[in-house]
Amino acid sequence: AKLRQYRGRFAPSPTGPLHFGSLLAALASYLDARAHQGTWLIRMEDLDPPREQAGASQAILEALATHGLRADEPVLFQSQRLTAYESILQKLDSKGLIYLCSCNRNRLAALGRVYDRHCLHTPPAAGETVAWRIKLPQPEQAVSFEDAIQGQQSQTPASDFGDFILKRKDGLHAYQLAVVADDIYQGISHVVRGSDLLEVSARQQLLFQLLGEPAPAWAHIPVINNSHGQKLSKQNHAPALDLSTPQYNLIHALRLLGQAPPTSLLHGSVEALLHWGRANWSLAKVPKTLAQTDPLFSR
Ligand code: GLU
Ligand code: ZN
Repeated sequence: AKLRQYRGRFAPSPTGPLHFGSLLAALASYLDARAHQGTWLIRMEDLDPPREQAGASQAILEALATHGLRADEPVLFQSQRLTAYESILQKLDSKGLIYLCSCNRNRLAALGRVYDRHCLHTPPAAGETVAWRIKLPQPEQAVSFEDAIQGQQSQTPASDFGDFILKRKDGLHAYQLAVVADDIYQGISHVVRGSDLLEVSARQQLLFQLLGEPAPAWAHIPVINNSHGQKLSKQNHAPALDLSTPQYNLIHALRLLGQAPPTSLLHGSVEALLHWGRANWSLAKVPKTLAQTDPLFSR
C-alpha cells in the first residue's frame, strides 16, 4: 500500500472567538501532525454568514498564533471555495447521486433523523425552493471505521441518518459537503477533532467513497462540558481564552489530553511547551471522555 503523506488540519468556524474547547482540538491536531513529521493546516469554515461574527476569523488566527499554532500553508477560507463545491455537486449529480427536496421544516421535524425520500418519488414542482440531497446508493449497508481514540464505529444510513442535505434551501452549501470537498482538496490524511463530530464521520466517509477518494484516518478527542453538562462551545457562551496566559492554557490542554507536561514549562516559552508536546505526544494516552467537568470552565 502506498503510504500517504501526513496532512492534518484544524477547521474552526468563525462564529466567535477561540475558546478552550477549540484550543484542545487545534493543539491535538497540531501535535499529532508534528509527531508524524506531517503538515498542519488551518481552514476557516466561513460558510454560513448568518452565523458568523465580524472579526472572528482574524481573532481566532491571532489566538492560535499566541499559542504558537501557525499553519504550514496559507489559511484556506471556505468562502473562497464555492465554485469548487458546485462542481462536486455536479459530479455527484452526473452519477445520479443527487435529488432535489422541497420539504418544509415542519414535515422534516415530524420525520425525525432519517429522510423518507418523499421528494425522490415526488419531485418538487418547477419554481419551488429546493435543497439538494444525496441519494445514498446502499442505505442498508453499514459504514464502519476505526477511530484512533474512540474505537470501532459503525452506522447504517437507513436507520442512522438517511439522505442528508448537501446544499441548503437558502443556497448555502452544507458543512458535510464542504468539509469533504476541502479535506480532499487539501489532501488531508488525518482528521483529529472534537468528538461532537464523531457521529457525522460516517456521512463524510461515505461521501469520500462516493467521490472515489480515500477517507482520512479519524481521531476524535473528548469534548469539554461545562457544569451544566453542555459541550463547551461558542453557542453556549464558553468564555474566550485568556490570551495573556498561553503557557498555562497549553499545559492545561495537554493534561486534559492525557499528556503529562512538567509544571516547570509554565515559566518557559510557548515554543518550549510545544516542543515538549511534540516530542512526548502519545495519541494512545488521550482519554475517550473527560470524566469530570472542569471547575475552571464552569461559569
Ligand atoms: N468547523 C467545524 C466546527 O467548528 C469543525 C469541522 C471539522 O473539524 O471537521 O465544529
Ligand atoms: Zn423533500
